[in-house]
Amino acid sequence: MLKTRFRGVRARIAAGACVAMILSLAAISGGAQDTGGISGFAPARVAAERQLEEKLRAIPDAAHAESNLRHLTSEPHMAGTEASHRVAEWLRDQYRSFGFDAEIVTYSAWLPQPREITVELTKPTARKLASPEQPIDVDKDTSDKRVTPAFNIYSPSGEVTAPVVYVNYGTREDYRTLASSGVHVEGKIVLARYGKSYRGIKAKLADEHKAAALILFSDPKDDGSGAGETYPNGPWRPMSGIQRGSIIYTQLYPGDPLTPGVAATPAAKRLAPADAPSLPRIPTIPINAQDASVILENLSGEAVPAEWQGGLPFTYHFGPGGAEVHMKLVMDYQQRPIYDVIAKLHGTSDDEWVVLGNHHDAWVFGAADPGSGTASLLETGRALGELARSGWKPRRTIVICHWDGEEPGIIGSTEWVEANRSELQKKAMAYINTDVGVNGPNFGASANPSLKALLRDAAREVEDPRTGRSVYETWREHAAAFSGEVSGTARQTPATDVSGEPPISALGSGSDYSAFFDHAGIPSMDMGFTGDYGVYHSVYDDFYWMKHFGDPKFTYHPALARLLGTVALRLDEADILPFDFPAYALEIEHVTTDRIRRAVRDEDEQALEPALDAAAKLSISASRASQALQAVSGAPLDPAKASQINHAVAAVEQAFLAPDGLVGRPWFQHVLYAPGSYTGYSSVEEPGVTEALERNDSATLRQEADSLAAALTRASARLDEVARLAQSAKSAAGE
Ligand SMILES: [Zn+2]
Repeated sequence: MLKTRFRGVRARIAAGACVAMILSLAAISGGAQDTGGISGFAPARVAAERQLEEKLRAIPDAAHAESNLRHLTSEPHMAGTEASHRVAEWLRDQYRSFGFDAEIVTYSAWLPQPREITVELTKPTARKLASPEQPIDVDKDTSDKRVTPAFNIYSPSGEVTAPVVYVNYGTREDYRTLASSGVHVEGKIVLARYGKSYRGIKAKLADEHKAAALILFSDPKDDGSGAGETYPNGPWRPMSGIQRGSIIYTQLYPGDPLTPGVAATPAAKRLAPADAPSLPRIPTIPINAQDASVILENLSGEAVPAEWQGGLPFTYHFGPGGAEVHMKLVMDYQQRPIYDVIAKLHGTSDDEWVVLGNHHDAWVFGAADPGSGTASLLETGRALGELARSGWKPRRTIVICHWDGEEPGIIGSTEWVEANRSELQKKAMAYINTDVGVNGPNFGASANPSLKALLRDAAREVEDPRTGRSVYETWREHAAAFSGEVSGTARQTPATDVSGEPPISALGSGSDYSAFFDHAGIPSMDMGFTGDYGVYHSVYDDFYWMKHFGDPKFTYHPALARLLGTVALRLDEADILPFDFPAYALEIEHVTTDRIRRAVRDEDEQALEPALDAAAKLSISASRASQALQAVSGAPLDPAKASQINHAVAAVEQAFLAPDGLVGRPWFQHVLYAPGSYTGYSSVEEPGVTEALERNDSATLRQEADSLAAALTRASARLDEVARLAQSAKSAAGE
């Protein structure tokens, strides 16, 4: 899954208002670079840490990464299949050979497989559609007989014959345009192109507008010939390429649809499928651009507005009329097994964990998504294992997870977090995710604000394979130079951050950090190298594609392994966890005071006041905590005291969880970030308040503003506690 690592370019912070705060922030938290130190490490330990990191970074190599990926892409391995089990067993055995304590954890999820897919044009002439992706001579994997026909997982079974209406991207705005043009979709089959929003939102909106069925297609303008050369001559989607993908409503809750909030163990209490709110209600199927063109060129009705025109060589019309389609989908729903791989390298302290992860299930071969991340993370695991073999013992336990069932609905990670939530909240210091780890040369990341400085520092230590300078320098230059959006593709729009730093976007959804961050309040980040990538979720996302376009020399895979390893080692070995709370508080103040206060209607302004006060107080508490932590991180600390401080530091994030969650979607508990209810992948900041504002819903706005204020107040109290613990440890150490 994962499309939007770089989405969500936030409105720039009004520079004048914030310069003073940024300067003070740099003084408090940014000292590491100037002194040659490392944030969170006592000066006496910096040299040893540098040496350890260098040793780790020397281990990952192109040959291992390539052979990992070759193995991982050797057969299609969709979640819920035996092939997925084989991948899990292989991964477990790899980690055992590296010296990890590795096991497979199995859950049982409600998962469909397609039994019958019929899509055909019935008017004006009869013609079979739903044609498969064409094999390509030079790439023998594309003719593999084991490839499952393309489908949208979690579509219900159903049979419909109806006229077609073209709905552009099928967003809320698009349906408004249709309504204002007098086009009705009730009882029709709606045809929507991929892009702009998560496909599960398209399914929800089609249902809300009473469409009878939904057909999704990849328009060549978005990720095919309109973007560049198509496969196998280039990296973009050929006319026969189909984007598979889930349409489950992860915007309500991710994971197994029948067990929201609890682990999908065999004994778990389950909803009846008809009662599961995350299951889509109308038949939905993806087709390729060739087939879409057969429907679109027959549509009558008014010509569409210019922004709705795609890349096919004729004028698009809204319909209905001209084209009628018959579709029949038979889905075989069953309880199917999900195989997570959990590998631990035990540390001196087993009650502090640093967790890393990526999924291993793929739509087909999954070279970029997720194999590139898996192949890289394996190299990180091998490197950590080698360090351990040479006598090093991690300070904290390192847990590397390879999730199953991410593509259908972020299932493996969600169920594991739901099963282990309270243990994770006690032990997990952070979660580091990579998904589409490598599909090009441009580094990008999303993270919660307290981890951004750590991530940037780690990127300074790793060499960029192309430029020979650091990943950090290369990232910054590219971000500054490149700020045009490439429409509808995985490439997003990084612009430079107000501080001149390369941008790190807010965590949205669409990958395995969701349960860690949104549900359990574990500080999280996600990273990878991206580029021109049009074969997302198609048969063409295979080894040949990676070898010719994504990372031909396999140099970015080891670079990612080094980055993941450097971040892991900093979190693992730090005396005091290097979390940047003033940066977090600054972002919260910006969103609350600049964006939300400006958008609120006069009559609702009062409701916002407690949250505004709490945001201001949070900044003060964050500065105090940061100063106290800075002062103590150079002192020789009693390990028990240090551990107490670190647990308190990691637990600040959990203060942002509202006990009852967001109004209408209680699984999403983080009050600061959630996937948008109508965008899906991309993040909405302060989602409860923001979405209530958009709907002009004063009652919910009041409720969400109170919940936000309470969360910010809890976070202040926790930061005050961090400061108190740090001060008392300092004075104890000084005696
Ligand atoms: Zn993925």
